[in-house]
Amino acid sequence: MSAKSVQFQDNEDQVNSLPKLASYRRIVVKIGSALLVDRVTGLKRDWLESLGTDVAALSASGVEMMIVSSGAIALGRTVLGLPKGALRLEESQAAAAAGQIELAKAYAEVLSHHKLRAGQILLTLADTEERRRYLNARATVGTLLRLEAVPVINENDTVATTEIRYGDNDRLAARVATMMGADLLILLSDIDGLYTAPPHQNPHAQFLPVIDAITPDVEAMAGAAASEYSRGGMKTKLDAGKIANAAGTAMIIASGTRLNPLAAIDRGERSTMFKASLTPVNAWKTWISGNLEPSGRLVIDEGALVALKSGKSLLAAGVREVAGQFTRGDTVAVFGPDGREAARGLIAYDAADAVKIAGRKTNEIGTILGYDARSAMIHRDDLVVRAAKRAATAKE
Ligand code: GLU
Repeated sequence: MSAKSVQFQDNEDQVNSLPKLASYRRIVVKIGSALLVDRVTGLKRDWLESLGTDVAALSASGVEMMIVSSGAIALGRTVLGLPKGALRLEESQAAAAAGQIELAKAYAEVLSHHKLRAGQILLTLADTEERRRYLNARATVGTLLRLEAVPVINENDTVATTEIRYGDNDRLAARVATMMGADLLILLSDIDGLYTAPPHQNPHAQFLPVIDAITPDVEAMAGAAASEYSRGGMKTKLDAGKIANAAGTAMIIASGTRLNPLAAIDRGERSTMFKASLTPVNAWKTWISGNLEPSGRLVIDEGALVALKSGKSLLAAGVREVAGQFTRGDTVAVFGPDGREAARGLIAYDAADAVKIAGRKTNEIGTILGYDARSAMIHRDDLVVRAAKRAATAKE
């Protein structure tokens, strides 16, 4: 963790046993609808302004911030004057359409007060579960972060149908966090953390500040799922925690019912921290190196091998041979000139294109393929270089 200092001005007298938020590298903050939208008066602008201040403070300390925001349907109900009570699917989709445009505008305005830009991303379940779409979504969100814009993400409720949607933004936020290798996910809602039993049902329930692992015993504390209309109860939050923690992302559940909710967490107000067992980078790399059967093979030259070992991406220029049937995003094994497996990674090209550009310089690739392609054959973030003594030979 870097030694970045916290920019918040609030008093810091209170003991905080959790690492300060500014020590994280990438944070996804999920905002529940009730925090943002009042049934009668609509958008809670003061609250959103205070969130914007916190996001800007963390962003100024070098944390890459992403927001997953609910509230489109709730806001759209107000905008379209829909009656209280359950909505039909097409009504809630229309509400999402009308609400999302307002929501995006509000985020863009609030962030612009801190000279930050916002980029709206609307995802469906398939965008995070199908490999190619996943890679595209990841590339877009990553590009926004590089351009120092804050991605503001929601489910694309206007087209997602019941069977193929997340339906709750807790799990969506967890998938976004793991997709982007975030080291922290913060779920802000009206619940301030995990108790040994649902506190509204059991007055003796005790608050739990830190959870090392979401075991069946921990899950039992959440109680049964709330009604089918109440999304995002403690059960979906623990589901989100399992997705996040398994991929190396820690999770905090905290109340957002106060102004400056992130500053409140930072100064140690009540919240529950769910620890991750691995770092996100290690989790991602473990997944690449261990869990997938390579669909192709590349043989590279000595220069490329030296570059890989020093942490660089694999460029087409250093690739001598390409074998196997693979598509972009598949895992391939990379062999050195001595025939030993040197690395594994997710390839950025389909096999046919990889064959065409093998051995060619980066500036020739656009002409050869007829489209403006990514330059690396395997980006270093998607590459795991094997330790020399454990390398297998190509013949094995
Ligand atoms: N995507 C929904 C919306 O923006 C919210 C889902 C949820 O509350 O978890 O209205």
